[in-house]
Amino acid sequence: YWAIDWLNKRATLTPNRVAVVDGEKKVYWTYEQLNEEATNLAHSLKQLGIQKGDRVALLSPNDISYFHLLFACTKIGAVFVPVNWRLSKGEISYILSDCQPSLFIYDRKLGKLVPETYKGKKLELQSDTYNQLFVGHGEIIEEKVNVDDPLTIIYTGGTTGSPKGAVLTHQSMFYNIINTINSWNLTTDDTTLTYLPMFHTGGLNVLSLPLLHIGGKVVFANKFEPERAVRLLNEEKCTIVLFVPTMYHLLIQSKAFQQSDFPTVHTFLSGGAPCSNKIYAAFAEKGLTFKEGYGLTEAGPNNFFINPQDVYKRRGSVGKPMLYNAVKIVNEEGKETGPGEVGEIVISGYHLFSQYWNKPDVTAETLKDGWLYTGDLGKRDEEGFFYIVGRKKDMIITGGENVYPVEVEHVIAECEAVAEVAVVGLPDETWGEIVTAFVVLKEGMIMAADEIKNYCRKSLGSYKVPKRIELISEIPKTPVGKIDKQALVSFYGNQIT
Ligand code: ATP
Repeated sequence: YWAIDWLNKRATLTPNRVAVVDGEKKVYWTYEQLNEEATNLAHSLKQLGIQKGDRVALLSPNDISYFHLLFACTKIGAVFVPVNWRLSKGEISYILSDCQPSLFIYDRKLGKLVPETYKGKKLELQSDTYNQLFVGHGEIIEEKVNVDDPLTIIYTGGTTGSPKGAVLTHQSMFYNIINTINSWNLTTDDTTLTYLPMFHTGGLNVLSLPLLHIGGKVVFANKFEPERAVRLLNEEKCTIVLFVPTMYHLLIQSKAFQQSDFPTVHTFLSGGAPCSNKIYAAFAEKGLTFKEGYGLTEAGPNNFFINPQDVYKRRGSVGKPMLYNAVKIVNEEGKETGPGEVGEIVISGYHLFSQYWNKPDVTAETLKDGWLYTGDLGKRDEEGFFYIVGRKKDMIITGGENVYPVEVEHVIAECEAVAEVAVVGLPDETWGEIVTAFVVLKEGMIMAADEIKNYCRKSLGSYKVPKRIELISEIPKTPVGKIDKQALVSFYGNQIT
C-alpha cells in the first residue's frame, strides 16, 4: 500500500499558500482550504455509497470541481473520469455506458448534453445537494489504495471510431508529477495559468498537478482570448504556461503580446501539436524562453526536457527524455534506429497508463513488453536530441484537439446520398490542421456540403465536424486500391478556397 493522499501532507506543509485560483471570478483556495473541502467531499461521496474502484464522472468547463473531485477520489480510492464537454450527447452517452459511473456530476450550462440513457445518480454542480456535500466531517480518511489502482480515466479518440478510456493509476500520475518537477526544475514559487481543458491531460497533468504537489499555484480560466490571457498572466504573476499552437498563433498576433514583456514568465511551453517557425520566431524576437513539449495521455503526458540554450540552437527539438523514463525510435521490425533515421516513438516508464478501459485488444496493440507504441514518428540526432516529425497513426490535430478521421468517415458514410468518403487534415495556419471531408455522391443523388455538416453535428463533437467539405467525382486510390490520403493532402492542401 502507498500513502497517496499527498494533498493532505502538502496542506500541512504549506497551509496558507494559495493553491488554486479561479482566474475569472478571482476566487482563491489555500492548500488548507482545498484539502478540507476535498476531505469533506470524500466523506460525503462515501456516504452516497461510492466505494473504492467506483467511477465518478464530471462534465464541466474548467472549474475548482476538477480538483475537488480528483482529490476526493484520491482519498477514497475512487476513479475520477473527466468528460470532454465538446463532444456530442451521443459520444458522452458512449463514454458513460463504457465506464458506468456511480455518480455523474455536471455543470448546469451543459445540462442538455446529459444523456437520457444515463440512469445512475447525477448531480448538478450548482445545486444545493452538491453544495451540501462539502458540509461537516473534517477528519482525515485512511483508505488502503494500491499504486496500481486506477485514479483517473481520460478518454481519447479512437482508431476504431469510438473513444478509448486511458486508465491512469496512482503510480502513473505520481511518476508524471515527480518526473516533471525534477526534470523541469519546478519550484514552490511557480505559478501556471491553464486555459487548456482539464478534461484533457494537457490541463490536468502537464503542469497543474506537478505544481500542486510542490506547493505552487494553479490559475484556471476558460475561453482563451489573447488580451485577457496576457492580463491574467501579469495579474497572477505566472511563471510557466502551456498553450497549444493555435493559442500561440492567436497570441503572437495580438496587441497585448506586442505590448507586454511578460516580466514574470520564465517559460512558455507549447504542446499537443506541431509548432510553427513563426511562433518560435515571435518569442525569440522578444528574448523569451519558448519550449516545445511532446507527450500523450497514455504516457504522462510529459516525456522530454530541453534547456533554454538548446531551444533555438536545435530548432524544433523537444529535447532529451526526462529523468525517469526511456524513449526509443524504432523501425517497422521494432529495432532501434540510428541517429537521423525516422521511426516510431516508443516510450517506457512508471508514468505509462495501465490499460484502455474495457479494451484489452487495443491495449495489447499499444503496450508491448512495457513499451508504449505512440503512433508518432520521430528521430534522434547524434547527441541524443529528439525531434517529432510526423504521425504514423491516422489522426488529425485541430486546435490541439485530436480527431480520428475514421470517426468522421463513419458518420458521413451513413448519409444515403454518399457513395464514398475520405477525411484528412489539411494544413491551416491558425488551427494547425482543419478537418476536411472529400465526398463522392451516389449517381443521380444530391446533397449539399452544408447538409453533410449539419448531419455530422448531430452525432459528432463540434471540433470534429469538417470545416471544409469537397464534393468530388472520384477519390484517388493507391495501386492496391486503398484511399490515397497523401495525394488528397498534397493536391488540396496547397489550394486556397
Ligand atoms: P492535450 O490534448 O491535453 O493538449 P496532448 O495533445 O499532449 O494533450 P493527447 O491528447 O493524448 O495529449 O494527444 C497526443 C498526441 O498529440 C500525440 O500522440 C501526438 O500525435 C500529438 N502531439 C503532442 N505533442 C506534440 C508535438 N510537440 N508535436 C507534434 N505532435 C504532438
